[in-house]
Amino acid sequence: MVLSGVEMVKLKAGADKRIRDGHSWIFSNELVDGFQSYESGRPVQVVDHKGKLIGVGTVNPHSLIAVRLFCRERVEIGQAFLRQRIARAVALRERLLPGERVCRLIYGESDGLPGLIVDRYGDVLVVQSGTAGMDRLLPIVTNLLVESFSPRAIVMANDASVRELEGIRLYREVAWGSLGGPVAVEQDGLRFLVDPLHGQKTGLFLDQRWSRLLLASFIRPGDRVLDLFCYSGGFGLYALKAGAAHVTFVDSSQAALDMAAENSRLNGFGERISLVKADVFEFVKSPSERFDAVVLDPPALAKGRKNVPAALRGYRDLNARAMVWANNGGILATASCSGLVHVDSWLDSLREAAQKAQKTLRFIARGGQSPDHPVLASMPETEYLKFAIGVIE
Ligand code: SAH
Repeated sequence: MVLSGVEMVKLKAGADKRIRDGHSWIFSNELVDGFQSYESGRPVQVVDHKGKLIGVGTVNPHSLIAVRLFCRERVEIGQAFLRQRIARAVALRERLLPGERVCRLIYGESDGLPGLIVDRYGDVLVVQSGTAGMDRLLPIVTNLLVESFSPRAIVMANDASVRELEGIRLYREVAWGSLGGPVAVEQDGLRFLVDPLHGQKTGLFLDQRWSRLLLASFIRPGDRVLDLFCYSGGFGLYALKAGAAHVTFVDSSQAALDMAAENSRLNGFGERISLVKADVFEFVKSPSERFDAVVLDPPALAKGRKNVPAALRGYRDLNARAMVWANNGGILATASCSGLVHVDSWLDSLREAAQKAQKTLRFIARGGQSPDHPVLASMPETEYLKFAIGVIE
């Protein structure tokens, strides 16, 4: 029984264990030769070394991850299948966040849709495809999203560098409908401007929503807050809403600071902020003031596996510096979005940071990516965001 017109790839003996346990990536060195000539992004059926079906997926001979498995049954990865998977992802968000119009609707492998991310900003959807396989399915995905959401616009934010590993071009464009400029959205009673065409990632870091709420729960009226790597002001705005007297936003991007300022004005906090354009790695070296709460949300410091030890030293040093900016008994809210850095190593780097800064660090809360970015237990790679709040003395 084969799917007609669908190429076959064969796993080497022993390579099926991880896949049978629920992982959906098959590496090129786990496959029997032959797949190298297949066209990038094509659907394939995967069999074990005895010829027994493992599932169906898409192939990319140019990538280290040669196959992304979509399904354990012999199905056609077409409109009916994708419609059902999208509906399942949307139903989960409806279950977790009823009525929410600003959230991640589809989170790749965790939603059984390898390579696909869809963020919803009200009536605008922002799509990221990270694989050749998903690129080929985008026309169908776009139609299905139109069918389900009747959006005003769908933006393809396909300019992440991971696409280079797949040998696919980087671009960002409106794929459906039209978009005049930034989109105004509301989350947790705060207004944000999101710019899907010029912003970072899809426009907003939705993964930090729960972390922002957690921080806000420890803000007291009158607190002064330092928001390092602020982007459009997510953490600081939640702190201001919780009663903070003042937030100092720091980022190296002028566009980010402009958004943080605009978002502050939109929420009526325009008088309670300062903006600092600086390289945070340098900025933190000269503490000029002490704060009741310091937020440290750097970009991913580990870009590749080889880079992990250097990244951990980076987290240690940045956190050690940041701790000095907290007043006695002040709070440090710190994050790492490096998927390659394991939470245990990252927590170790925080312990070392406290030693280095000669501070006592007590953890009072820990978190990670928001629930609309579920972590697939059988695929640790789907967990990337780590977050901790500590009291510094
Ligand atoms: N805290 C933000 C997200 C931060 S994303 C939120 O809640 O939305 C990381 C940010 O770090 C980006 O805005 C980027 O412009 C900024 N950045 C990257 N490298 C930097 C550097 N060396 N110094 C200062 N900012 C930097």
